[in-house]
Amino acid sequence: MNYHNYYPVDVVNGLGTRCTLFVSGCIHQCRGCYNQSTWSPSAGHLFTQEMEDQVIADLNDTRIKRKGLSLSGGDPLYPGNLEAIFKLVKRVKEECPGKDIWMWTGYVLAELSEEQQQVVNYVDTLIDGKFEKDLADARLEWRGSSNQVIHRFTLD
Ligand code: SF4
Repeated sequence: MNYHNYYPVDVVNGLGTRCTLFVSGCIHQCRGCYNQSTWSPSAGHLFTQEMEDQVIADLNDTRIKRKGLSLSGGDPLYPGNLEAIFKLVKRVKEECPGKDIWMWTGYVLAELSEEQQQVVNYVDTLIDGKFEKDLADARLEWRGSSNQVIHRFTLD
């Protein structure tokens, strides 16, 4: 898997202070997408074992307390990303007690493949659906367009 950007301290993508990873790879081609440079799975940088370890270390860093990890892109559920994302979310839940996981995907929850659902089983909040330019609304929190749904699987 490749990633586009990693912010070890982020207060914009999800509730609270978070670590945020923007992965590469997306097939949805939403009209008006702001992140077209992330569409190619080979864009950006390789998500190495060192990067994975860094994310885990940042989440457990007590000097700046993070509420959790946010995964966006691109699409974390892009088929070519599933192996690496599954490994990452599993580690977060096993090695970072109390940290939550937020994820943005262009897929719709009801239509996920078995492999995608296996990843989502580790996710606390999923924002799903393609960005629809005609339904775009800048006043929406966490979403770009009103067709997208915020699924809170766990409560704070
Ligand atoms: S799912 Fe997100 S990254 Fe992919 S095309 Fe749509 S808006 Fe862009």
